[in-house]
Order: sequence, then structure tokens, then C-alpha cells
Amino acid sequence: MPINTYSSTLIRTSRAVSRGEAKKAAAAAAANSTAFASPFPASSSSRAVHSAAAAGLGGLPAAVAPVLRSQPVVEASKGLVSNLQLRLRSHLLASSPLRNPNFAASISLYRAGSSFSASSLASPAGARFVAAAGSAASRLSIRDFSTMGSSGNPFDTVLTDLPKPGGGIYGKYYSLPKLNDKRIDKLPYSIRYLLESAVRNCDNFQVLEKDVEKIIDWEKTSPQQVEIPFKPARVLLQDFTGVPAVVDLAAMRDAIKRLGGDPTKINPLIPVDLVIDHSVQVDVARRPNALKSNMELEFGRNKERFAFLKWGATAFRNMLVVPPGSGIVHQVNLEYLARVVFNNEGILYPDSLVGTDSHTTMIDGLGVAGWGVGGIEAEASMLGQPMSMVLPGVVGFKLTGKLKTGVTATDLVLTVTQMLRKHGVVGKFVEFYGEGMGQLALADRATIANMSPEYGATMGFFPVDSVTLDYLRLTGRGDEKVDMVEAYLRANNLFIDHDEPHEENVYSSYLSLDLNTVEPCVSGPKRPHDRVTLKEMKADWHSCLDSKVGFKGFGIPKEEQGAVAKFDYHGEPAELKHGDVVIAAITSCTNTSNPTVMLGAGLVAKKAAEKGLFVKPWIKTSLAPGSGVVTKYLAESGLNKYLDEQGFSLVGYGCTTCIGNSGELDETVSTTIADNDIVAAAVLSGNRNFEGRVHPLTRANYLASPPLVVAYALAGTVDIDFQTEPIGTGKDGNPVFLRDIWPTSEEIAEVEKKAVLPTMFRETYEAITKGNLMWNDLPAPEGDLYEWDPQSTYVHDPPFFKSMSKDPPGGHGVKDAFCLLNFGDSITTDHISPAGNIAKESPAAKYLVSKGVDRKDFNSYGSRRGNDEIMARGTFANIRIVNKFLEGEVGPKTIHVPTKEKMFIYDAAMKYREEGLDTIILAGAEYGSGSSRDWAAKGPYLQGVKAVIAKSFERIHRSNLVGMGIIPLCFKEGEDAETLGLTGYERYTIDLPTDVKEIKPGQDVVVKTDNGKEFTCVIRFDTAVELTYFEHGGILHYVLRQLLHS
Ligand code: SF4
Repeated sequence: MPINTYSSTLIRTSRAVSRGEAKKAAAAAAANSTAFASPFPASSSSRAVHSAAAAGLGGLPAAVAPVLRSQPVVEASKGLVSNLQLRLRSHLLASSPLRNPNFAASISLYRAGSSFSASSLASPAGARFVAAAGSAASRLSIRDFSTMGSSGNPFDTVLTDLPKPGGGIYGKYYSLPKLNDKRIDKLPYSIRYLLESAVRNCDNFQVLEKDVEKIIDWEKTSPQQVEIPFKPARVLLQDFTGVPAVVDLAAMRDAIKRLGGDPTKINPLIPVDLVIDHSVQVDVARRPNALKSNMELEFGRNKERFAFLKWGATAFRNMLVVPPGSGIVHQVNLEYLARVVFNNEGILYPDSLVGTDSHTTMIDGLGVAGWGVGGIEAEASMLGQPMSMVLPGVVGFKLTGKLKTGVTATDLVLTVTQMLRKHGVVGKFVEFYGEGMGQLALADRATIANMSPEYGATMGFFPVDSVTLDYLRLTGRGDEKVDMVEAYLRANNLFIDHDEPHEENVYSSYLSLDLNTVEPCVSGPKRPHDRVTLKEMKADWHSCLDSKVGFKGFGIPKEEQGAVAKFDYHGEPAELKHGDVVIAAITSCTNTSNPTVMLGAGLVAKKAAEKGLFVKPWIKTSLAPGSGVVTKYLAESGLNKYLDEQGFSLVGYGCTTCIGNSGELDETVSTTIADNDIVAAAVLSGNRNFEGRVHPLTRANYLASPPLVVAYALAGTVDIDFQTEPIGTGKDGNPVFLRDIWPTSEEIAEVEKKAVLPTMFRETYEAITKGNLMWNDLPAPEGDLYEWDPQSTYVHDPPFFKSMSKDPPGGHGVKDAFCLLNFGDSITTDHISPAGNIAKESPAAKYLVSKGVDRKDFNSYGSRRGNDEIMARGTFANIRIVNKFLEGEVGPKTIHVPTKEKMFIYDAAMKYREEGLDTIILAGAEYGSGSSRDWAAKGPYLQGVKAVIAKSFERIHRSNLVGMGIIPLCFKEGEDAETLGLTGYERYTIDLPTDVKEIKPGQDVVVKTDNGKEFTCVIRFDTAVELTYFEHGGILHYVLRQLLHS
């Protein structure tokens, strides 16, 4: 089947001259490198060094440099484009600025006479400036990032100039070659990123010299589960998880003011980019006005949250908020936000990030090390604190050969996902290498990196090579910036040159794939790693119908499998049977960032229309790209017209069906499915398909490439063998097969070459920095301090800093504490801080009713994460939680020990608090496993929990507890509450000194009970830094005091 592969010819602009010059410069830089003393014993004097002062070079883009280099050159008033101006102008333009080719040009008109040019907006730094210019632009000239090196760094000896060809330097960098240690040459590239960060940030407090040594010795230390600190260069947020982070920053500003400090000192200390993308739903589809209608509904539902974030965009330095309707966080990151190499006040370092969305990993396809974390780690990182992480093993994934015609990047990622799942990569990095990697276009790499959570890895990393550089040029980053990126990465041995011989890195384990063996496929019906090749699809579907209910089964009796349910679809006769498609969605940054598959979808739509084949009207079709660039190249190619004709009209720029925001089905369809118990299907170009995620009524959900989404929509069923069965009958009365409408590789490449242009990226991202009509019209508070609305049930002033003193309170023990909860093993963060429905009799529901909120408007705990009142009540509110106090009864209740009364956990916690009584939690193994959630630590804090004594902790959750000032204690090996005979009805005392210097990380402490029992636990403050957080009452308190006294 002639399905195309991505053609990289378009983006492979030859930079032979520049790279050649860079190689020449490498020799000089290498010779220079041994002249510096190494903090470690030199293990070899001769090494192959790529360190290169690269060539073909210029400075930073003019617009980036002023902001990053702290030069007060930006005159805010000149640069301002007021909302009013924009509103007026926007009214003169089309309703969607992103769709109007004149829009970018019109913006530059506004800037006539301003101190920055239109091209300045091509950089995220420029965007940050404009985003915040409305209220506090003058502050934006100050960039006090915390990841640009430390004073007193013992590795300053390897700080090296990166020369520009033609004179001058780009800046200085911490040179890995100058560490002069042969072990570094064999490290996986991904580990070198951790090493560079540790070297640059070493201060012998947060990051120790011995941490650097641990990373250099990775081959020996990684199997031992050693922990290292990591300081990412920036943080990425989406709106669901971004709201609580901004709430905390706003509350910190209030607190510092109360303590006599300057509220404007509270800002992220590294760049934070927040993209509002998770809130849009496909309420309206297959209509020309769907985009506008869905945005209006989105704004209507979320105006409190959006107004709050809009305030944050202007109030905080180093924070960029990308408004709703602009794109999907990971595609925007890939196309625009990623710096790849920072030049910050003359210090060069690799881009790296943590994000509060699991698919943050998409950026690893661009050679930027990034992965998803929980809210407290993200907040700590944004406030300049190191993250503690286990030094990971790295699986080396060798790619050879080339994808054959007929295979898409989606087919490849589904194959890779299945292989890595089988191999077992949880907690590890995966690093791709081999000559096959050079055959993969950047967008294909990003698709593979995106699905790291599905194969279970922390990240799937593609080191930077010439393909990466070409993508940077395609996306409008500018030659000078790209040359600097190449020069730095070559000089620091972080660049792969496929043309040069090099020693293979050492990996923890190895896998390989010949790209030529990958076949067209989909994954489903319930899990992303259940891959099915297209040729086996029909047989697999029937096997799923037959098999008992499970991941690959629906348990439909044979005699019922052919049942047909007829219904009337708005006057048109219609029918549904098992396997019929009711949702077909071109969705998800996983695929919408890849022009080949998007244009491939357009060509399938076109060829089908030309043959007279159209998608049935009751199938809910949608197109939700991750950036306006997609709209532009579809329009340029003319393929948008055919997608519209097939029902794939633009519904929004956001996550939509990928995250389950697929909206309602037509009532006639949903009634037919429900009444006849039809196993209806969804086909989507997303990355997750667990039952219930896409839509409650689609029990079969298949992940597929965008062209296959269109093909299955045309067929109207997944019960089809595309090789032998026609998709439909053409207008000439002849059967039409998939092969008849599938574009050739050459066709896609041809369209892509003409339609995907660097100007589209520049124009799109110039436009989003100006917002859109609805965002600009949204009233939002202004000022350095947020005016909390006491009536809001979404955003609430949290109490974390209310009683905070100027000086740290010191350590604290626990005195005669009652046991709030007595848990067994495997209490997950979903038990502790559920994200789903608010049960109607729960404490949170009672609170909402007391605030006049209708039951239908309760929404979920997840959407109300900005309100501590809801989240405190929602803590431990999971209806499936098992607490030993209840002796077998399941649910969110406990025994209030003094009265022996059974009550909601929240109510018991409040009763203890009102009486001034400490509480602790007893738990089994793996306490806090599951997705990392800030609320799983914030909630117990708000309920007054002082310590958790567990058999073991999930790693991130333990550090989150520390971050909230809660004491984590582990029973001694072989002991737990049962073996020690603890019932939970005892009172617990843990004596700890106020002076934390008297506590040693990981030391033994004695726990005493009021019935005379004593047992020893290990205190799980694992580092001196964590003890400092404890001394201050939590990580945010620590940072706040640092800023107060600075
Ligand atoms: S489109 Fe899907 S994968 Fe991408 S950010 Fe949204 S929910 Fe996550």
C-alpha cells in the first residue's frame, strides 16, 4: 500500500559550509581544552573531541539578546500594543487572526516606530516581553535565571569562551571536554545533559561535586539507584496544572508583602511557559463556525481560570502565557518555545525542561531534555530549586534502514511503543542512535518522543544533529541562532555528526529496529501498545468481539455480532453495528505537528471526494491542530477544502479528543448505541485510548495516523480489510479501495515542499503573542498582587503562608499525635488526591452547594485545583480508598479516635485541627505511587498531617511531602504496622530537635506510643537541602524567605 514516509528534503537545507568550518574550529578548541585543570584526576590525555568554535556564525538574534543579556534597552511604552488597538484592528480583520494571512503584516504596522521589530517576536524571549508588556514591561529587562551558573562554583575552571568566527565570542560555557575525563566520552548524550547541568550549577550545597562524580561514573552508579540533583533550564505548564502553580506564586506575593518585603521579588527564577490548551471541547463539529463556537463555549466555562492566568501573564516576570485558541503545548514548544541552547547573560547552556504534562517528552525529539513531573517539582524548579532524581539507566535504541513507502511516523511510533513496553523501560531514558536516525525527519522523531509515557520511559531522546538544525531553520529560528546552537553543541560534545566516525556510547541495555520492517498499523482497541497491522485488523477485530471482556475483548456472543441498529438521523435513514466508527478525530500534538501525515490526510480526503466518496454525516469528525501553522499549510495546499467537505473542519487549536474533550455525540447516535449496546468505535490520531478516555460511548478506540483516520471515517467501520474490501462505491459505480485514494510518497513530498514554509511559522507565532479577540476582551485584574475574589469557587487564596514568620520556625517533632488513617500497601496519588468527579454527598460537594453552585456545575476535582478549599475536602476522597480503621468497608471515611466516631476523613482531620491535635498516617509499601500530583502532598498538609510512617514511598511523592514540610519516616526493613502490633488507636510521639543541624539525612529516630511501645524508623530527609526545607516548613517557605532577605 503506497503510504508515504515523511520527506525531509524540504528541511534539509545544506549547511555544509557552516558545519565544515565548525569542524575545523574543533581542532583548535580541543587543543585548548587540556590547558585547564580538572577537578577530577585526568584519566586520559588523548580524546576525540568535537569541541568546536563553530563557524558561519553571528550573534544572537537582535531581539533575543537585549532581553537575555539584561540590557535595559527595551522601552516599554514604545513596544506596547494596547488591547484597544488590537481589538480595533482585529475587528477590521477576519474573525480568526491565525487564519488571516494579512494579520502578521498588520502587526508589524503597529510596531512602526517601536524599539523592537516584527522579527523580534520570532523568539520566545520576545514573546515574553510582549505578553507582559501591558503592566510591567520595564521589569522585563532583568533576567535573573537561576540556572546560569553559581557563584563559588568549583568548576569555574572549565568555563570557556565560545569564539565566533570573524572575532568575538558567543559567550562562555562549562566545557565537558575540559573535565578531561575519558568516561564522559562514552556517556549517553542524555546523561551528558544531566552532567552539564550539575557542573554548571555546582555550589556544594544544592549540587555537590560528588553529584558530578556520580554522573560521570554513570556506568557504575546508575544500576545502584543513586539520586542526583537536576536543575532544568525552564518549566512548561498547561492550564490544568498551571493554575495551582500560579495560585501559589500569587499567595507568595501576598505573604512577602505581609512580611514587609517587595512582592515583585516573587517571580519564576527560570523561564516558565504556560500554554492554555486543555480546556477546549468539541461541542460543535462539522460546521464552518465550529472554531468560533467552541472557543466561545470554552471561554464561557473557564472565564474565572482564564482571567486569573491572564493576570499572571502580566504580573510575573519570566512567565509567558499562550492564550487559549493558539495551539497545543507540546507543538508550540517544538515549533516555537524551545531554545535548544540558551545564551543567558553570556553563559551558554543546553535547553532542558520539566513540564506538568506527561507528554512534555515530545521536545526530546528536538534534542531538548524534558519530561513530565508533578506540580511541586515544577514549582520548586521554577523557583530555582534542584529536583532530586534517580540517575537513570539508558536504553540505547539503534535505528537502521529507512521506512519503506507506505509507512508513516505513526506506524513507526506504535511499533516502537510495543517494542519498548515489552523491553521494560519504566524509570529509564531511551536514547535513539544509528544511521537510521539520520533518515528520520524531526517531526517523526517528535512523534516517537511524544509517546514516551506510553512506552513507560522518562524520556525518549534524540540528540541534536543536522536534521535538528534544519528543522530550527524551517521553523524560523534564524540562521544566526542555529549557528550558535551548532557551535555550542559541537564544542561541548553534545552534537551527533552522522558523517563522522565515532565510538558507540555505552548504554544500560540495547534494542534495535530496521525501519524497513515497520508496517502500516493501528493500536487498540483499548491500549496504545496493542498494535495491530492493517492486514490483520479485520481478523483482530473479530477476535476482540469474541474474546471475553478485557484489554482485547468485548465478549459479544457470536449470534449478536452481526446485529444492525437502524435509526433516523435527522430525516436520513441510518444504521449502526459493532465496529462502526462514530468519532474520527485528527487530534493530538503527537501527529498534528507532523506535516507529512497532516497533508497525507488532506490528500486522502481530496482523492475520496474526487471519486465521490464522503464520510457519513452521523460520524463526529474533527480537526484540531496544535498550531496555526497547520491551518496555513493546509490552506496553501488547498487541501483544507477537501477536509472540510469530508467533515474534518477546524474545531479548535487544543487538546480536544486526545484528552477526552470530544464533546457529546448527536443524541440519535448516542441513544442508538446505548439502547442496542453497540460496541462503537473511535479512530483518532492521539496517543492514549484507555476505555472511557475518548468518549464514554466508544468502547473500541484505535490510534491511527491522520490519513488512516480519514480512511476509517470514509469506510465507516473498523471491521474492514483494506486490502480486499472496498471503502465504498465511487460516483461511477465502481468499488473504491484504499489504494485508490492513498497518495504516493512523491505526491506528499511535492505538496509539502510547496506548502510548508518558514514564513508560516514566523507569522503564526507573531500572531499568538498578540492574543486573540476573546482573550484580549476578557477582563482580568491588574497589579502586582492578585485581588482574590471571595465568590470564586475555582481560584482561592490558599493558607500556605498565612502564619509565616520572617525567620524559619526550625524543625519540629510530633507530640501525642492521633492516627488519621491506617493504610495498607499501594495507596496511590489518585487515592490521596482524586482528579475525577465530586461525589454529591462529599465534603467538597457540601462546600460547593453552600457557595450556591448547582450540582450540574460541580465539574471535577481536577478542574478546581486552583481552590484549596475544594482540594482539602477532596483529599483522600477517593470512593475506593481502603482504610484499615473501617475493617473492610471501602470509602473516604475514618474513625475519629477520641470519640470512636466514623466520619468523612476531611471532617475528622478538621476536628483534630480545631482541637490543636497533631495527626500522622500509617501506610504500607509504595505509598504515593501513580502520577505525581502536588495535591497529594498539599492536601494532607491542609488536613494537618505532620508525618507519614510507611514501609516505602514512591520517590517523587516522598520529595513532595518534604516540600510541604511533612516528615516521611520508613519502618525498618522487615517491619510494618502489623508486625509491630500497631492498631492506629495509639498516640504517637516523635522527638526531633528544633535545630535541624542536629539531624542527619537518613538517620534513625525512635517513635514512641502512649501504650509503651517504641520502634525505630529511618527519617527520609535524604539530603541536607531537604533538611533545610524542613527547617523552613517547606520548600516554598524556604524560597520565600530567601527572597525576603535578599
Ligand atoms: S494533545 Fe494530547 S498529548 Fe498533546 S498535550 Fe494535549 S492531551 Fe497531551
